[in-house]
Amino acid sequence: MSEEVINTAEELEKKEILKRYRQLLKSAKRVKGKEDRKLIREAFELSVEYHKNMRRKSGEPYIYHPLAVAQIAAEEIGLGATSIACALMHDLVEDTELDLKYITKKFGKSIASIIDGLTKISGVFDEKNSPQAENFRKMLLTLSDDIRVILIKICDRLHNMRTLEYMSRNSQLKIASETLYLYAPLAHRLGIYAIKTEMEDLALKYTEPESYREISKKLSQTKEDRDRFIRSFIRPIKTELSKIGLKFVIKGRPKSIYSIYSKMKKQQVSFEQVYDLFAVRIILESEVEQEKRDCWNAYSVVTSIYKPNTERLRDWVSSPKSNGYESLHITVMGPKGRFVEVQIRTRRMDDIAERGYAAHWKYKENSNEVSNYDNWLNNIREMLENPESNALDFVEEFHTNFLSEEVFVFTPKGELKKLPVKATALDFAFEIHTAIGSTCIGAKVNNRIVPLSHVLNNGDQVEILTSAKQKPNKDWLNYVVTGKAKHGIKSFLKEEKRMAAEMGKEILAKKFKNEKTEFGKDNIQLVSNYFNAPSELDLYYMIAKETIAKKDLKIRQIINESQLLQREHMVQSMKSSSEHKNKLENLRKEHIIIGDDNVKLDFSMAKCCSPIPGDEIIGFITIGEGIKIHRSNCKNAIALMSQYSYRVINSRWASEKPVEPETYETLIKITGIDDIGIVSKITDVISKDLKVNMKTIKFESFDGTFEGTLTVFINDTSHLNDLISAIKSIDPYINVTRQSVD
Ligand code: MN
Repeated sequence: MSEEVINTAEELEKKEILKRYRQLLKSAKRVKGKEDRKLIREAFELSVEYHKNMRRKSGEPYIYHPLAVAQIAAEEIGLGATSIACALMHDLVEDTELDLKYITKKFGKSIASIIDGLTKISGVFDEKNSPQAENFRKMLLTLSDDIRVILIKICDRLHNMRTLEYMSRNSQLKIASETLYLYAPLAHRLGIYAIKTEMEDLALKYTEPESYREISKKLSQTKEDRDRFIRSFIRPIKTELSKIGLKFVIKGRPKSIYSIYSKMKKQQVSFEQVYDLFAVRIILESEVEQEKRDCWNAYSVVTSIYKPNTERLRDWVSSPKSNGYESLHITVMGPKGRFVEVQIRTRRMDDIAERGYAAHWKYKENSNEVSNYDNWLNNIREMLENPESNALDFVEEFHTNFLSEEVFVFTPKGELKKLPVKATALDFAFEIHTAIGSTCIGAKVNNRIVPLSHVLNNGDQVEILTSAKQKPNKDWLNYVVTGKAKHGIKSFLKEEKRMAAEMGKEILAKKFKNEKTEFGKDNIQLVSNYFNAPSELDLYYMIAKETIAKKDLKIRQIINESQLLQREHMVQSMKSSSEHKNKLENLRKEHIIIGDDNVKLDFSMAKCCSPIPGDEIIGFITIGEGIKIHRSNCKNAIALMSQYSYRVINSRWASEKPVEPETYETLIKITGIDDIGIVSKITDVISKDLKVNMKTIKFESFDGTFEGTLTVFINDTSHLNDLISAIKSIDPYINVTRQSVD
């Protein structure tokens, strides 16, 4: 009897697997011909066979996952047969006994190398190395051969995000943070906006469940009103566009939950104060030769009906972003005094924006954005060729250089250059040529002379000033963000140091010889220690630069003293480590539960985000400072979790409140309209009415408004919320927000 039930369930699953497979083939629009279909079928059969006894955390057959990843690749990015086959097999080498050799034999080298790129590095990592960073680097390294690795990895990550509810809280936070830090920006830079947006929303759902629920609730509550507004906004535009004979689709769509959340956080405003909750998009059905003219015609129709805010015009039709994004964005004043963002683009542009890189292939012949894109890829390749950086530096550098937004600037001849946001005149100089960068003394930005540390803005025209006498120095590293400039400066400094060190080495060798001491490794090390030189090279360099005076190089004496010191130091360090331990043990332990078992662990609160009871928190194991507790939405924590997830430890507040409540320092910011006595009213509410202690307090006023920053001692989040609403009730224009140190 029970046998039969199992059989039925199994058969149902088999049916479902086949159904999903057929669905996949249907969505694979670029799959044509027998060969393609054969490849996909073989990949599917192999994957079914080897994943046969595996299940996902949700209890479903494992094969649903590769099928779903392939489905996303086919339908949402529009990839072809090879990618679909690889997506179907992406977990085979990592999770089953099948090896790469077999894949190579059966499917050939190029498929095998994609699968290899998708297979995580396994092995032992020391504290300084992060397996996540190593894996990310490995994936990117294959990018120089095949971009499809990253596209499939993005599909894989998207499906894992969609099914995140089945994972443990700890894994949810790790995966969501990594998605926010790396994968969503990566999807953004590859121009796959639809997936980027979905990833961000899903990540927010797990890192900040409270805000996510709140915003989605408010979005649905205001939907009817919004729809009515959009309809009345669109009506006259429709009529006028039709009059001039344009074919188009026009729709209003709410911004993503994550982008609303970011705006609220960045501008410190409430949901109601975010003015552009939605955007209106006009998609034109244009012939390629007519595109630009049609877009500007539509622009002139919109702006003759509604008054534009010209400061908010973004023209990515004339100069597309590096990722191929093309669109005209303009903010206009709509009815009822509400600002509305209007995006104007053609069907082709929309397709590229939604589906990204893959969609380029279709249009390759007729447009120039591929060259922009190739440019970006070439820059990445250049960086990948640099063998210097370790995996963590690499991820960080990749993040600033390739995942951040960009600024558009011009050369004196009007040539357009794209640099990451916060790039300086010096970055620009290195972007043009290492020789220009190395001799840069400053720049003229829009004809005004600026120092080389000057941060560039969109639209700046930059002329670099050089001098043959100039050369890079260490401080320059603080002024640059691009990898190109950093490497240029570093390699110059290294070479300069190496040459100077040669001289220093000669001087030292002579001193050794004079005192008849052996010029060997151990002795040199002792001299290095004596002068606190970080390395042998540094020691030589310090001697050459006379940071260490020649007369102080009394070799015998130094070696003797250094040996003594070494011994003393060892004893001292043993003492201090036991002292440190005692101090930590006195810390309060009862309020936070760390880890899954009841082992008592030392912790301290992270200064960057100052968690208070009621906040979502995570623990992070630091080197030398025990466990640090962060808020789970803390910027630093997200960066840490995405790189060192193996050092994250589950933590939560104890549910029972302690008898004697602890207080925690919290930073709040108050803004509002300046009024006589407003400051004393606020401080009265805080200290007299609510009896909250304040540590620091600072009020400033400008042009009839004021801004106050206060450090207060509070017990938990509900205490804080009471405080915030009490201050708000003083005056309708007062806004209060909790701050974190960023
Ligand atoms: Mn997978």
